[in-house]
Amino acid sequence: MASLSSSSFILPSRRLSTISASSDSSAPNPSPQTLNTPKPRRASDHNIRDEARLHTPSHTHRFSAKYVPFNPDSSSDESYSLDEIVYRSRSGGLLDVQHDMDALKNYDGKYWRNLFDSRVGKTTWPYGSGVWSKKEWVLPEIDSDDIVSAFEGNSNLFWAERYGKQFLGMNDLWVKHCGISHTGSFKDLGMTVLVSQVNRLRKMNKPVVGVGCASTGDTSAALSAYCAAAGIPSIVFLPANRISIAQLVQPIANGAFVLSLDTDFDGCMQLIREVTAELPIYLANSLNSLRLEGQKTAAIEILQQFDWQVPDWVIVPGGNLGNIYAFYKGFRMCKELGLVDRIPRLVCAQAANANPLYLHFKSGWKDFKSVKANTTFASAIQIGDPVSIDRAVYALQSCDGIVEEATEEELMDATAQADSTGMFICPHTGVALTALIKLRKSGVIGPTDRTVVVSTAHGLKFTQSKIDYHSGDIPDMACRFANPPTQVKADFGSVMDVLKKYLLSKDPNH
Ligand SMILES: *Cc1c(COP(=O)(O)O)cnc(C)c1O
Repeated sequence: MASLSSSSFILPSRRLSTISASSDSSAPNPSPQTLNTPKPRRASDHNIRDEARLHTPSHTHRFSAKYVPFNPDSSSDESYSLDEIVYRSRSGGLLDVQHDMDALKNYDGKYWRNLFDSRVGKTTWPYGSGVWSKKEWVLPEIDSDDIVSAFEGNSNLFWAERYGKQFLGMNDLWVKHCGISHTGSFKDLGMTVLVSQVNRLRKMNKPVVGVGCASTGDTSAALSAYCAAAGIPSIVFLPANRISIAQLVQPIANGAFVLSLDTDFDGCMQLIREVTAELPIYLANSLNSLRLEGQKTAAIEILQQFDWQVPDWVIVPGGNLGNIYAFYKGFRMCKELGLVDRIPRLVCAQAANANPLYLHFKSGWKDFKSVKANTTFASAIQIGDPVSIDRAVYALQSCDGIVEEATEEELMDATAQADSTGMFICPHTGVALTALIKLRKSGVIGPTDRTVVVSTAHGLKFTQSKIDYHSGDIPDMACRFANPPTQVKADFGSVMDVLKKYLLSKDPNH
């Protein structure tokens, strides 16, 4: 067991309680800042990367990770260095990043809790990132100098006080706003890891000239931004005329090489697979297991934000189903390494228009069938044949998990109601909220259960769906909670009339 004091970069905040007993009981406790000697300002010709080079933690060389086939029951010894370019196992299956847990276990749970807590909210490179503050558990062997980070993560855990009380009779409901992030979705958490590793491979002279993906939405936005930050060429395959301006503008602005192709998404995916097999382009698509290492830090962050108390439920919208597994992996590592003593039950929420996991769950996990995904406002989860199905089933079975679904009307109503209490959520978060509503109604989730709904993207990326809803402009949808603007003549009398009526309707004494 490592002793706390042997680590030079643990702040002594945990020890404050023993020194704060003061003769004047009304005096406020000294803050950690006043007790810590401030570190001297770095030399003016140094930046935070230079500074990081001087302070490499002494423990890092002991930790390692490698690719293994994703097959929890297998005893095969197939494995690959993370410095190899490999996307699938020998048999064509998924890979998983496996950490040397025994090495990590040389340090106890308290050590890790204190280490992670000591790094939150700083500019110290690279730990100011919510992902890289857990570097030892993510990519332990990467040089801090190779990391490409926008200090992503550390996202707001929002107490949904009014929404919880008003709509669900809950007082301990939280929304983890993963979309309040560099490019507006949780994809940043994974992309910082993938692009950092690519940056390392390039420095090792591995044959990687650029990074490519075939996604229309959040993945291409994150890929373009992180590649741009590092000066690495990014290549994005998009289906011509099938995507909105909002989906197109991020990669364009970030300088990606955008190919507009006369096909659909599957066509783009097929093409980029073929192309990356021939050209030195690294493939950043969703089967890439590096991304999940970054995404799992959102789970660790939730525990950290609750002072390492474990919530009862965490609800995650799922499409390709990598993220639900990433959450499970983050929680399980915290339990295995003694930071917490249990893990929450996970709920995966799907759009009814793209619900293969839901159908699989309802069948009692009998044989899985892909579906044809229909159009949904939750466009990032419009996936009928999820790449990470095996990962998701394993995660849900291991934590007594549940799968729920949301119709278009349910998810849009839930979104509108959440927005009316001060949030501004994306349709995917509406899917997760619908799952919560259903599980509250059936009594599975109790009124006092501490529950976290994961919000995966920023609502500002999905304004068109909100405009359609509030205009009552959606076929076959009542849009019950629409709040359209009132048209009024531009004269004093007319404006006074509508305002008086409005105020009367809001007056609690009427
Ligand atoms: C990618 C994405 C999802 C789905 O995540 P999976 O890992 O594919 O299940 C959900 N919401 C948003 C906003 C996304 O960008």
